Amino acid sequence: MLYKLPEETLILQDTVKRFVDNELIPLERKFPERPNSYELPEDVFLELTAKVHEMGLTARETPEDAGGAGLGTLDNCIVTEQVHRSTAGCSVFSATFASMLYELGTEEQKERYLVPSVKGEFHGASAFSEPGAGGDLAGIQTTIEKTDDGWVINGNKCWIFKAKTARFILVLTRLKGTERHDGLQWVIVDSDAPGFKVGREQKMIHGQNTYELFFDNCIVDEKQLLGKQGQAWSSGTDYLFSGRIQIAARALGIADRCLEMAKEYAKIRHTFGKPLSSRQAIQWMIADSALELHSCRLLVYDTALRAQEGEKVYTETAMAKLSATEMVAKVVDRAMQIHGAAGLSDESILERCYRDVRPMRIYEGTSEALRSMIARDLLK
Ligand SMILES: Cc1cc2nc3c(=O)[nH]c(=O)nc-3n(C[C@H](O)[C@H](O)[C@H](O)COP(=O)(O)OP(=O)(O)OC[C@H]3O[C@@H](n4cnc5c(N)ncnc54)[C@H](O)[C@@H]3O)c2cc1C
Repeated sequence: MLYKLPEETLILQDTVKRFVDNELIPLERKFPERPNSYELPEDVFLELTAKVHEMGLTARETPEDAGGAGLGTLDNCIVTEQVHRSTAGCSVFSATFASMLYELGTEEQKERYLVPSVKGEFHGASAFSEPGAGGDLAGIQTTIEKTDDGWVINGNKCWIFKAKTARFILVLTRLKGTERHDGLQWVIVDSDAPGFKVGREQKMIHGQNTYELFFDNCIVDEKQLLGKQGQAWSSGTDYLFSGRIQIAARALGIADRCLEMAKEYAKIRHTFGKPLSSRQAIQWMIADSALELHSCRLLVYDTALRAQEGEKVYTETAMAKLSATEMVAKVVDRAMQIHGAAGLSDESILERCYRDVRPMRIYEGTSEALRSMIARDLLK
């Protein structure tokens, strides 16, 4: 059980907090036309990523022997939380989804895909969702089979983030003829592989759009298969779910900022001759938000520390992601309510936070799927 953050974690927290306050928050008003919270003009982005590199936080979750900063889960959560107090430039601290390649990849795969991704030379995407199966991963129908020409993939994917600019895609397929949890197979598909095509852009509420992918007799070499053949369910899904605790940390950061804004605004906005902060209805909204944020923070930090120490905390991680993403939705909503019309307009970052938090209850485990998982574990 975690009662106090370790000294070095507090130093890291303070360093990133100052960077966010001084470098990122001032950018929020500078590029209001940007379609989402992550996008920045390229020159600004490069300048900031160089500063992050100087701080030693590039590819922060990737182990040091693969060129990353090698932060543990708790430290990583602390950075994520601080970074998401700003709606500008979170991508400069963006984590590469390297853990699956690191754990399952051959030396050749790591050299070809992991090392350049960590250096920021290019990025990949990860594709498991399909029109017929998203939350129910074992229902995917994209097949792979061995032929004289190589391994052939057929099927299509949807909702794939960053697919348009990705140099490679980690694609979840199934060995032809298998069903449900048997025969699932990760494959690394290069963006120029024959028979592979990125389709329509699928616009999203928060501006971070996704894409459809098509595999029409797409041929890949055997060395593109990732992990033990047909065993992606047992060896590859952990990595898929490892981002959940970071989403919970992201929710903490957004909630923290929105609560701060709600408190500030309640003190300066006067109605009927008194500040909003003197009204019980407003005080209770602030009190509820602070209470819920604090409870979630304890759950997230405790789970992250246990994960960092090597404990298997699947259920706790599901609890942390579920409670933090549901908490942040309420905190942003209350902050908006306190701001009145000002909270709905693009003159405040609140409308952006409102859009940013909605998808969090859907990707990387819907709230319903997480509740089922928690209950299954408790009742087994
Ligand atoms: C912004 C965004 C980015 C994404 N990026 C990617 C990406 O990069 N790569 C990728 O592969 N996918 C990505 N996804 C897809 C995401 O993983 C899926 O949306 C998610 O897994 C849910 O699947 P689904 O949308 O098909 O919903 P479904 O699985 O069809 O579920 C629909 C609803 O029914 C509920 N439900 C389903 N089954 C049950 C049940 N048994 N009992 C009770 N309720 C149930 C669900 O909780 C949900 O509320 C992204 C999604 C979003 C929103």
